[in-house]
This record gives sequence, structure tokens and C-alpha cells, in this order.
Amino acid sequence: MRLSEFILCDLEAILQEWESFAESLLEPAQMMDKRALRDHAKNILEDVAADLTEPQTEWAETEKSKGKSDSLSNNDSASISHGKARLALGFTLNATIAEYRALRASVIRRWQKSLLGNPVSDTEIGDIIRFNEAIDQSISHSATSYSFEKEQQARVFDSILSFLPDLSFTFTLDGRFAYVNKATTELFAHTSEQLVGKRLIDIDLTNGDELQRQVESVILTKEQCRGEMCYPSQSGNSQFYDYLFVPVIYQDGAVEAVIWTAHNITERKAREDEAWHKAHHDQLTGLPNRRMFLDRLEHDIKRSARLGSSTALLFIDIDHFKDANDRLGHDAGDLLLRFVADRLHSSIREADSVARLGGDEFCVILQDTITTKPVERVAERILTALASPFLVRNNSVHLSASIGVALTPQDASAADDLIRKADQAMYTAKGAGRNQFSFFSTPPE
Ligand code: GH3
Ligand code: MG
Repeated sequence: MRLSEFILCDLEAILQEWESFAESLLEPAQMMDKRALRDHAKNILEDVAADLTEPQTEWAETEKSKGKSDSLSNNDSASISHGKARLALGFTLNATIAEYRALRASVIRRWQKSLLGNPVSDTEIGDIIRFNEAIDQSISHSATSYSFEKEQQARVFDSILSFLPDLSFTFTLDGRFAYVNKATTELFAHTSEQLVGKRLIDIDLTNGDELQRQVESVILTKEQCRGEMCYPSQSGNSQFYDYLFVPVIYQDGAVEAVIWTAHNITERKAREDEAWHKAHHDQLTGLPNRRMFLDRLEHDIKRSARLGSSTALLFIDIDHFKDANDRLGHDAGDLLLRFVADRLHSSIREADSVARLGGDEFCVILQDTITTKPVERVAERILTALASPFLVRNNSVHLSASIGVALTPQDASAADDLIRKADQAMYTAKGAGRNQFSFFSTPPE
């Protein structure tokens, strides 16, 4: 029996044998619809059988033996689409080719068995050669289309990455750049050729060491790692990035590379900073507001408790501010409050802080106070600073303030208690005639 007839007669048995063989060989086949896989193999065999019955010229025979075909037969187009389809299913090139090899092995094995040890005729040898050539050609077409598709995919991904505004690059297992996209080369002002093979610590990055350690940790732990970094751009404005390291894990569970992508968050960060500033500062004077003042006070109280020193709180309320407001108008009153804020700010050390609590009330925190003398000096300085007349819209305005002072730990150790005590002391100063300061408790000398 000619090989083409044998293939068609024995088709089901060949496919069965091929199926069990292919299953162990083709791992991704397990994810694939078995019926589709079998139907495809059946089509290939039917095409090969049909091809074997076609008469062949001597020239075509020679060309085929060199691995060249004269025309694209059905089998050729099936094998071309085969490579492309298997790539889409995640097959490796080896697995793609193995499918044909398994098919060839099944056919030859079963055909050999059917010959029952009878001598093989020249015609049968010719059929085997043509069959092998047909399978070789299918392998060749399938592999070519697989590789072509893969290269095209690589080109598409490369283009996507190139035009992506986000930075993206990959690292080898020894932490060296393997691929660098255009946005990255532009930011680092190096060509891709200059960067590939280099490590993060080889380029001028302020946090290069830390990033390099993160690459190593991602390889070790196989876990993603996220962070933020700042890069001083050529224009002088710092650029902020939100970045992510991701391990590329191969089928066997080992890390084969690390991907890094970074998104520019400079604008978002500026908006966040602005929102934070608004939420923590007084719109009129630009001084820290009550919220930020409370945070600082709590922080300073803890710090002085740790250091065994004291935090002094000066509660300042402008005297008769309503009168100035009524006389000059609310807008001029606003301006006056701004001037007061400036003078208070200039009366304290850098480490100390001044805040506007609201209305005509301000607070000054003096850190690390050991004795009360420096506190008195600051209070006096503030009274003196406010005593010079303010020039508001051609009006010379005279102001004064009453100041209440409370200290940790003798007056209070909690922030709200300290504020209450300083407020009470301020009222004592008001009651005593204004334009003076008063301590909540008599300072021990
Ligand atoms: P005292 O000497 O007892 O402190 O009297 P005072 O007139 O300063 O009155 P008080 O401190 O009780 O009230 C503060 C006044 O400050 C009330 C209000 O007229 C004015 N004020 C509060 N907030 C603002 C503001 O944002 N802008 C302006 N222009 N005035 C304000
Ligand atoms: Mg007042």
C-alpha cells in the first residue's frame, strides 16, 4: 500500500498514538482545546497525504530535497498559520516544531509495523522520502512564521516602549541594563548603547545605590518593589518619579530579569504639595494654621520631654484689634494682620515657630527652653516689635499685644492643656492692663 493511502486508512490510530505522545511533549497543549489540536494534526496529515499523490517533477524533487518549494501548497499555508497560532498560544519554538516531529514519528512507526518485516520497495522508499520532505517543509514554514511573528511582536513592543513617556528598562541578573527605552535615554542624557551593560550605580543618580540594592532584593525575593525618586532634570527643575521593579519569572520559577518602570509624578506631587500647604497654612498671613501648629506643638513637647528640657508656648492676642478694624475697615485690618505676622516671624529663632490660630490670635512655640529668661526676652522682643507704628494705607496705626506664657512640664504636659494655660495667662495680661506678658505660673528662678 502506498504511504498516502496508509495515512488516510490508519488516520484515527495514528492520531491516537500521536495524541498521547504530543501530550507529554507539549506542555502548553494542556491549556489548549484537545479537539482543536487533534483536528489540526488531522488536517496536516490529510494535506501531506494529498501532496504525496501529486506527481512530482525531477526539478521539484531536487528543490524539495534542498528544503525549497516551488509553490505554496495548502500544507504550506497551514504550516505558516501553525507557527503564528502556536506563538499566540504561548508555545516555545521547540514545542511548535515537536508537534510535527511527533506526527512524523507516529506515521513512520505505524507504517513500519504494517509492513510486518516485508522488504521495502523503491516506491515505498520514495514515499518515505517525500513524506519526510513534506514534514520538513512544514517545520520550516512553521518555524519561519513563528520567528517572523515573534520579531514583529518584538518590534511592536519596542515601538510601544519607545514612545511611552514613562521610563522603562530591564536589568540582567547581575543588575546591568539590558534594555532601555527612549524616555530613559533622554532623561539620563545617555544613548542606549552607553547604558546597556552599565549598572545603576555607574550613572549619575543621587539614589543609585539604593536602587541597585532594590534590584538585588527583587531578584532574591522575587517580589515587586515600589518607590519614589527625584531626578534633577537638565532644566534645573527636579522631576519626581513613582517607580516599580518587577521580577520576570521564567516557567521554572527562577527570576530571569527585572523590569523597571517609572512614571513622572512631578505635576501630581506639586498639586499634592499645594493642597498640603493650603490645608496646613493660614490663607491670610501664610503662617502655619491651627492644625499644623498642633502637630508641631505635640512634636516639640515630646522632643523636650525626651531631652529633659522645656517647651514654652506664648499665646498672643492683639489688644483692641476691633477698634483698628472699625476705624480702617476690614481689608486694612487684614493687611495689619499680615504685618503683625511678619513682625512676629522676625522676632523668633529659626528653630521656633509662629502660627495664626485665627482672628487676632497668634502662638509662638519656643523649643528646648532650659530657663525662663530667654522666654521673657522673646516676649519682650515681640512687644517691642509690635510697638513701632504700622503704616496701613497712609494711616499710622499703633498696636500692642497681650501675651500669656505656659511651659512644659511645670504648667502642663499635654498640648491642649498647655494652650489652655497660656490662654489663661494671656487673659491675666489683658486684665493687668494689656501690652505685657504674663506667665501662667510664677517662673522659678
Ligand atoms: P482685646 O483687646 O480684648 O483682644 O480686644 P479685641 O478688639 O482685639 O477683640 P478680640 O481679640 O476679642 O477679637 C478680635 C477681633 O479681630 C474680632 C474681629 O473684629 C477681628 N478679626 C477677627 N478675624 C479677622 C480677620 O480675619 N480679619 C480682620 N480684618 N479682622 C478680624
Ligand atoms: Mg484681641
